[in-house]
Amino acid sequence: MARFIFITGGVVSSLGKGLASAALGSLLQARGFSVRLRKLDPYLNVDPGTMSPFEHGEVFVTDDGAETDLDLGHYERFTGVAARKTDSVSSGRIYSNVLEKERRGDYLGKTIQVIPHVTNEIKDFIAIGEDEVDFMLCEIGGTVGDIEGLPFFEAIRQFAHDRPRGQCIFMHLTLLPYLAASGELKTKPTQHSVKELRSIGIAPDILVCRSEHPIPEKEREKIGLFCNVRKDAVIAAYDLKSIYEAPLAYHKQGLDQAVLDAFGISPAPKPNLDRWEDVMDRLTNAEGEVRVAIVGKYTQLEDAYKSIAEALTHGGMANRVRVRVEWVDAELFDREDPAPHLQGYHAILVPGGFGERGTEGKIKAAQFARERGIPYLGICLGMQMAVIEAARNVAGIASAGSEEFDHEAGKKRFEPVVYHLKEWVQGNYTVQRAVGDDKGGTMRLGAYDATLVDGSHVAEIYGSTAIEERHRHRYEVDTKYRKALEAKGLCFSGMSPDGRLPEIVEWKDHPWFIGVQFHPELKSKPFAPHPLFADFVRAAVETSRLV
Ligand code: GLN
Repeated sequence: MARFIFITGGVVSSLGKGLASAALGSLLQARGFSVRLRKLDPYLNVDPGTMSPFEHGEVFVTDDGAETDLDLGHYERFTGVAARKTDSVSSGRIYSNVLEKERRGDYLGKTIQVIPHVTNEIKDFIAIGEDEVDFMLCEIGGTVGDIEGLPFFEAIRQFAHDRPRGQCIFMHLTLLPYLAASGELKTKPTQHSVKELRSIGIAPDILVCRSEHPIPEKEREKIGLFCNVRKDAVIAAYDLKSIYEAPLAYHKQGLDQAVLDAFGISPAPKPNLDRWEDVMDRLTNAEGEVRVAIVGKYTQLEDAYKSIAEALTHGGMANRVRVRVEWVDAELFDREDPAPHLQGYHAILVPGGFGERGTEGKIKAAQFARERGIPYLGICLGMQMAVIEAARNVAGIASAGSEEFDHEAGKKRFEPVVYHLKEWVQGNYTVQRAVGDDKGGTMRLGAYDATLVDGSHVAEIYGSTAIEERHRHRYEVDTKYRKALEAKGLCFSGMSPDGRLPEIVEWKDHPWFIGVQFHPELKSKPFAPHPLFADFVRAAVETSRLV
C-alpha cells in the first residue's frame, strides 16, 4: 500500500514545485523506496497537447502516448521512472470524464456536482496503481487560493481523510521574500498561504521555503510556530546553479528525513547518494566548453525546448564538458544569410515544431551544417527539414516540401516529400487518421520500435539495431523518395519494423549528420545520457578542436 505525499504551492507561482517533487522522489529512491510521481493541473484543456509551447512550455510525451505537462519530464529525469498516461490529469480531462459518464447515464439520474462527482473522479485518479509503489507523490498545479484549483484541494483533503491516519502527508512550497531596505526575510506571506490552506481543511506537515538568503534559525522557529509545522519540517530551498543540485541540496536541508519522520518511518533507511554525487562531479568539474546553436521557432521561451536543453546538458556530462546552448530564431534566415549567424558553433540542432513559419530558415540551417561538415542533429521537424533540404539541393527536386505547409496554406505548392500519414500500425492495431480530424491526441504518439541498418552511424552510436523511441508527429518522410536520396548519400538508416516509415536519416560522407523522426531528448537522464546526445556533444568537442 502506497503512502501519499501531496505537494502544493503558495504565495507565487513558479517556485519550483515540480523540481522539489522530483528531487524528493529521487531521495526516497536513494533510501531504497519505489516511487511514482503525478501531476494534477487545474486548467481546462483536456491535455497540454493543443497548447502553444509559448504558453505552457514543452509537451512531454510518455511511452504510452500521453501528451503531458513538462513537469513529468523532470520527474523522469530525476527518478528514471517512465511516466504513464495515468500520471498527468487536468480539470479538463476530469470534467470530460464526468460529462461522458453523465451522458452514458452512469450516475443514474443524480444531479452532477463538483462535490462529490468531480472530487470522486479526482480521488479515483490519484489512487490508480497505488499498490505498485511505496510512495505516490502528487503535485497540484497552480497556487492555493486559485478558484480553478479548489476541486483538487478538496479532493486531496478528502483523500487523506478517507485513508488511515499516517498514510498521507501534505508538503507546501512558499516564498520568503527579502526586503533589502530592512535586510529581513519576511514570513508573513508564508503564514497567509498556510492560513489559506488550513481554511480549506489542509494542514501542511512540511513547508519548503524558497529564499534567496539564508534562513536564520530564529525565522525557521517562527515559521514553524506560526504555521503549526515542526521546526525540522521547515525546509530551506535556496537558489541553485543547476537543477541537478536539488537532490543533494534538499537532502542537506533535511527534506527526505522530514518526510520519513512525518510518516513515522523509523529507523530511516540510510540513503545512497552516489548517483547524484557523480552527477554533480561531472557538472562541476567539466573541462572546456562547446557551443551548440538550437535553430528553432519558440526561442523566446526556453521551456519550449526543455527536454532538449536538458539532454544537451546530459550529453555534456557524458563528455565532461559544458554545453553552452544558444537559441537562434529560424525566421532570421528568411531575411539574412545564415552563415554569419551560425559560424563559430560547434554543432547545430534543429528541434521539433509545427507549422510553416520558420521552416525555410531551418532548411538553410541544415544546408549550412551539411555543406560545412558541422555536426547536425535534426529532431522530428528538424529531420523533415533536413530531408527536404537534401531533396531540393542535392537530389534536384526543386519544389520539395511538406504537405503540412500546403494544408496550412490551403493550396498545393510543394512536392510532398513529407506527407500526411493516414494509416499506421501500433502493436496489433492499425490506426487511421484523416486530414480534418481533431487536433488533440491524434498524432502518432508514444513509443514505437525502429530497426537500424547494421553498420550505420546510428547503429554504432546506439550499440544496437533495435531501438524504441517516443514520437509526436502527424507527417512522415515518404519512402517514394528513398532511392533518389540514398543514391546521393542520404541513408535511411532507421525504419519502422515494417519498413514503411523512415525513422532516421544520415549523410554518409559527413562527420555527424543525423535526423530522427522521434524525440530522443525525452528519454535522456543526467545519470544516463541518451546515446545520441552523448555522441552529438562528443562530435561537437571534436569540431571545437578543429577550429
Ligand atoms: N509538424 C511535424 C509533424 O507533425 C513535426 C512534429 C514535431 O516536430 N514534433 O509531423
